[in-house]
Amino acid sequence: EVKATGRGHFRFYRPQMNVDVLSRMKLETAMRQALEQGKFRLHYQPQLNLLSGRLIGAEALIRWIDEERGPVSPGQFIPLAEESGFIVQIGAWVLAEAVRQAVCWQQAGTPMLVSVNVSALQFRQPDFVQRVAQTLSEAGLPAELLELELTESILVQDADEVLQRLQALSSLGVHLAIDDFGTGYSSLAYLKKFPIDKLKIDQSFVRGLPEDESDTAIVVAMISMARALKLSVIAEGVETEAQRATLQRLGCDEYQGFLCSPGVPPDKFAHFLQALR
Ligand code: C2E
Ligand code: MG
Ligand code: MG
Ligand code: MG
Repeated sequence: EVKATGRGHFRFYRPQMNVDVLSRMKLETAMRQALEQGKFRLHYQPQLNLLSGRLIGAEALIRWIDEERGPVSPGQFIPLAEESGFIVQIGAWVLAEAVRQAVCWQQAGTPMLVSVNVSALQFRQPDFVQRVAQTLSEAGLPAELLELELTESILVQDADEVLQRLQALSSLGVHLAIDDFGTGYSSLAYLKKFPIDKLKIDQSFVRGLPEDESDTAIVVAMISMARALKLSVIAEGVETEAQRATLQRLGCDEYQGFLCSPGVPPDKFAHFLQALR
């Protein structure tokens, strides 16, 4: 059987797809219940200055352990949540929870930049900026302690609308970072147009350092571009001392990755905060 999948595109229908659709529907239902029942958690991955080794922030990463399925990775359920629109509700929870945590850290005398992933659909909500402002003011967190990680897919949408929104967030004092930089299909023109603070070099470019010449060339170019545009630059997915040392030599500002720590629950993160006291 052949099915239309959009204008001029056809693919063969396989009985397997019934199973896929069913398991997706079940996962979707489980995801909604997980939010209702408070089953999502946030883990925090330390971000460090490359020169001093000092802690400068933490990226919030969502975690879900389902009773039946065990740990479900965000790579699995976030795309599904994006397709169904449920990411808007999840995203609101993540933002509120991360902001609440940042307030705790601030009150404990160790104020820390907390970095939150924002999905394209979430960003596109007409009231997104207002929600961010409201979340901050209700919790009493200075906007300067919040960073939003945006993907390039967000920036390729209607330029005027995006620009307005980014300017509004920026004037609140919120930091803006481009996540997975270099993996999207957007033009680089947005870097001079939008009030971006930071580029996050995707881990796919970090992996090959220092041996892979192409990866090294790309990372060098990204850092020099960031310098020229007065953006700061952080490398993601740093797993080895050789990668860290290379990034330091190339003039990268910050890093995060398993070399220092994976994302950990707040009680374990306290260990990194001690160094700030
Ligand atoms: P991301 O924002 O680029 O996050 C980095 C991912 O790389 C995380 O995977 C992190 O655990 C992992 N990682 C960190 N250091 C290393 C390393 O040294 N080596 C390797 N191999 N991996 C490392 P995770 O937590 O599975 O998240 C995957 C993606 O799911 C994230 O990519 C982000 O796009 C999305 N995501 C996670 N939490 C949220 C959230 O709260 N909201 C939204 N919208 N998306 C989220
Ligand atoms: Mg991220
Ligand atoms: Mg990333
Ligand atoms: Mg990524």
